Amino acid sequence: MTQNRVGTLILPEFLIADPGQPPQREWGVRVVGERVEAVGPNAALRQQYPGDDVEEAPGQTLSPGFVNAHAHLYGVLAHGLPLAKAPSGFWPFLEDFWWPLVEDRLDHEMICAATDSVMVEMLRSGTTTVYDCLEAPYSLPGCLAAQAGVARARGMRAVLSFESTERVGAENGQLGLKENADFVRACRQAGGLVSGLMCFHTTFSCSAKFIQQAFEMGGELGVPVHMHCSEGVHEPEYALKHFGLRPMEYYDRLGVAGPGMLASQCVQLSEREIALMAERGIRMTHMPLSNCEVGAGIAPAPELLEAGVTVGLGSDGYVNDFFEVVRGAFLIHKAYKQDPRVMPASKVWYLATEGGARALGLENVGRLAPGWQADLQLIDSRFPTPAEEHNLYDQLVLWRNHTHVRLVMVAGAVRVRGGVVLGADEETIRARTHAAARALWGKVS
Ligand SMILES: [Zn+2]
Repeated sequence: MTQNRVGTLILPEFLIADPGQPPQREWGVRVVGERVEAVGPNAALRQQYPGDDVEEAPGQTLSPGFVNAHAHLYGVLAHGLPLAKAPSGFWPFLEDFWWPLVEDRLDHEMICAATDSVMVEMLRSGTTTVYDCLEAPYSLPGCLAAQAGVARARGMRAVLSFESTERVGAENGQLGLKENADFVRACRQAGGLVSGLMCFHTTFSCSAKFIQQAFEMGGELGVPVHMHCSEGVHEPEYALKHFGLRPMEYYDRLGVAGPGMLASQCVQLSEREIALMAERGIRMTHMPLSNCEVGAGIAPAPELLEAGVTVGLGSDGYVNDFFEVVRGAFLIHKAYKQDPRVMPASKVWYLATEGGARALGLENVGRLAPGWQADLQLIDSRFPTPAEEHNLYDQLVLWRNHTHVRLVMVAGAVRVRGGVVLGADEETIRARTHAAARALWGKVS
């Protein structure tokens, strides 16, 4: 039966089917509909499926698309925002800058303009899935539905959530939780590439009751519950002072620490907290570049991986070219640990693809195997020195960026060809984003 259907053969020089494992030379895939249907040597695929369309990709690597497991798409509007003085640390960053000058000023038009702009940038750099965490307390309700409209039109796989918080009031917190629950149900009904999960902010902006409510709702809906955790020293200091425990220990005491928990950042962790995350099956996303931006520290990602924690990578709304995030994760721990063996390129590539999908709880995303989603990218692999099985991950991690991405598919649909994001009028998108940024900046000054 399936052999009669027309598929597309993608025939590269190298195939990364199972990220982290050695690449296969002159192997490719057959895509039918939204999924990968077959994987094998290029010559055998040609012979077996002579009626298929063929994407010839000599000198290129076929890899799963990147999974950006934590972003704030609206963050692009803050790039270059005029500031009277730079924040002096993580807490002033939130209290004096991010909350009052960015998140509290966002409206639906700003959110949608930023979402479209960043999704185009992400697709062009090989990212096929993004998890977005929207904190915009005065854009409730309906902000996620508005954002989802943009994601569907752009054809990107997206997990969207509203970062509920009680920092502006209990009623607003409830609106945030409801926004997520309504959105999860609506996405399930609609089907397609957009889904939701449950999300709240932190232990210092949400009460114990509120946190437990978020987990109850997430459990009922069968979705992960996401929060930011110990991005800087502020949260552990706050938790120790108010609860006598560090944040992960506090979550454990609340009875919510478990596999349904997705904790982003986790920069300032104790050894006990790392062990607790492994014991409870808590998942984590790592943001090497934004940790640098806010002066938060360096997350113990190698220790978490060593302990067996599921880890994904994210841009955190900072640098959107995912090759730069991958490079950051590859380099930062080597310097910090004074050990070049930490975080090898193959492991970082896994975190950027299948690791992120596992952190988000997405099934059949992040690998190119029969039955898995055809979310993929072709990357120009003509390096100054020969690409070989033993050096391909290092070559890709160190010397590639968005300009080398030749083709991107999401669920079997071509979204980028020859570096061009199909159906995206970039001049119009830029003009809309500039207008949104000026509107935000105008509210600031
Ligand atoms: Zn974040």
